[in-house]
Amino acid sequence: VKVSDLGEFGLIQRLSEIVAGRLPTEAQADLLLGIGDDAAVWRLSDGALLATTDTLVEDVHFLPSTPWQDVGWKALVANLSDIAAMGGAPEFALVTIGLPHDRQVEAVDELYVGLTEAAGAYGVAIAGGDIVRSPAFFVSIALTGRAALDASGQPLVLRRDGASAGEVIAVTGALGGAAGGLRALQGGLDGDTTRLLVKRHRRPQPRLEAGRAAIAAGIRCAIDVSDGLMQDLGHVCQASRLGATVYRDNLPVEPALAELFTAEEVLAMAATGGEDYELVLVGAPEQLERARSESGVPITTIGEMVDDADHGARLLDESGREVSLAVAGWDHLRA
Ligand SMILES: [Mg+2]
Repeated sequence: VKVSDLGEFGLIQRLSEIVAGRLPTEAQADLLLGIGDDAAVWRLSDGALLATTDTLVEDVHFLPSTPWQDVGWKALVANLSDIAAMGGAPEFALVTIGLPHDRQVEAVDELYVGLTEAAGAYGVAIAGGDIVRSPAFFVSIALTGRAALDASGQPLVLRRDGASAGEVIAVTGALGGAAGGLRALQGGLDGDTTRLLVKRHRRPQPRLEAGRAAIAAGIRCAIDVSDGLMQDLGHVCQASRLGATVYRDNLPVEPALAELFTAEEVLAMAATGGEDYELVLVGAPEQLERARSESGVPITTIGEMVDDADHGARLLDESGREVSLAVAGWDHLRA
């Protein structure tokens, strides 16, 4: 079986079965949440440790023309977003870079300048890492974070399997800007609107404050929009054994997109584009309102969870008809 046939999510499932079948349970006694969420959760004596990892490969995840500082920024933000999606506070990072031997040292310097900018902005220590020779340039980061435990020793985190039927689905910020920025770059566009969208693509902001405000408001379910809203919401559906209905006209679309793209293109970018690193939050309306007012981050209601595991995540138009989307989202292994 080729990995491209299985796809990223089929491969994750297969590997988690190998892990579950071979690791002695005592090796995982303090593992509160393993493979399958935005970050793993590990019990400590005074709280919970969160751990996540994410990799950017040149020509796969970023164009060779991307400024190195932006690659460094985004590499850390992709990880920070996973900690945000758990409602945690980031702590320290280990950075591995793979380098073709003929690369300029200045490129690595600049990568680290961008990385350090993101680390400084969000309170992360760069604690170490590894450098290897590689045919393709890549940067891979492992990031830890912290969360509190409740009185019964359970971690106060936002989980993909934490949704209940009837709860409301909401999303922070605006969607589609990152995909629009990439498309504008690929199409050779320029101007102020392109620059704004390219910034969304190259300098995303993790929603750490919204994640923590969600925890404080009693919300227990979230995922970050890394691979595309509908696909990421599909993971919540699968983990929570529920369906999701999203209303197209409620999607908070990045306003600048309308200047450059058709309505159909804009919808596809918002619903499936990915890399916006916004948070999808699932909870009661009053909890979502509290998270909005405490974080100061825009949080828009887009739909609700439904009690039907076979329903999947569906996008509906104003007459209640399902909107078909050409692609559901990004799979790292499919061709
Ligand atoms: Mg994630």
